Amino acid sequence: SAKEQGRNTWRFYSDVMDQANTDKFNLLQRIRDALKNNEFKLYYQPKIDLQHQQVQGAEALLRWPQNDGSFINPAEVIELAEYSGLILELGAWVLQQACNDCQQWRQLGFPDVKVAVNLSPIQFRDGRLEHTVLDALRQSGLPPSALELELTESLLIDNSDFVQQQLSSLGALGISFAIDDFGTGYSNLGYLRQFNASSLKVDKSFISSLSISLRDEPLVRAIIQLAKSLELSTVAEGVEDDATFQLLKQLGCDAAQGYLWSAALPPDQFTRYLQKQR
Ligand code: C2E
Ligand code: MG
Ligand code: MG
Ligand code: MG
Repeated sequence: SAKEQGRNTWRFYSDVMDQANTDKFNLLQRIRDALKNNEFKLYYQPKIDLQHQQVQGAEALLRWPQNDGSFINPAEVIELAEYSGLILELGAWVLQQACNDCQQWRQLGFPDVKVAVNLSPIQFRDGRLEHTVLDALRQSGLPPSALELELTESLLIDNSDFVQQQLSSLGALGISFAIDDFGTGYSNLGYLRQFNASSLKVDKSFISSLSISLRDEPLVRAIIQLAKSLELSTVAEGVEDDATFQLLKQLGCDAAQGYLWSAALPPDQFTRYLQKQR
């Protein structure tokens, strides 16, 4: 009967949901263990200054290598870590590791190299962020001017005093901010006025098809103009081919990242990348 069928359908969905929750629960437990056992790695993707075609720094990206040589999708790890609160511990580890590695490159003869670290909004709402950042800087010896924090629009539209106050005290230390994945979040751009960012990262969804589809060109052009009028520098994410690189340079984009130059590399390979570029 229809009623029975309905019940079976419900049971089917319910089983699927249970399975999904079990999978998430298991993954979360594995993330906890991985953090304890030091299984996470930070890789670094070169950030290229387009005018001078020089490496200006790197973005730190979380990697979790598996025994079979594969990696678990970092976005999935981050999402679960956020949901469980584990992001505070994981995020502190990321900050410390990134500062240590960057300080090492600077001491190896690349004194201008900067590092960018992605932050989750949860880290801002916790209240210990400033302390965690200061700790990472102090223990590594990295100057605050070499650290950039990448924030998403979802954090910036939260104009609670608490978030604003942390942004300004971190800014006062000399740390800079980039707005990540720009263009994918919110249409309310009011936060750009209040908040003191130094760069804007154009999301890769606008960049990846730039050289093949003319549809995205006006959009990227407009974003670059907007950034310029606000005295923000622009960084394009996800540049994969030379035509896109040339077009971005022509549009006045300041810097870029993407597979055209390199995917994210382990720290020692990034050192070699810096040495080769010289
Ligand atoms: P994101 O910060 O926007 O990082 C850019 C993503 O684009 C990275 O993916 C990078 O590997 C990828 N990418 C770079 N160049 C290219 C390209 O030319 N083509 C394509 N198709 N992709 C490219 P990834 O490493 O998978 O990271 C995904 C997201 O996970 C990041 O997006 C960031 O939001 C988050 N994430 C990664 N590491 C961390 C971390 O340490 N902390 C936090 N809070 N989030 C992180
Ligand atoms: Mg980022
Ligand atoms: Mg991004
Ligand atoms: Mg992105």
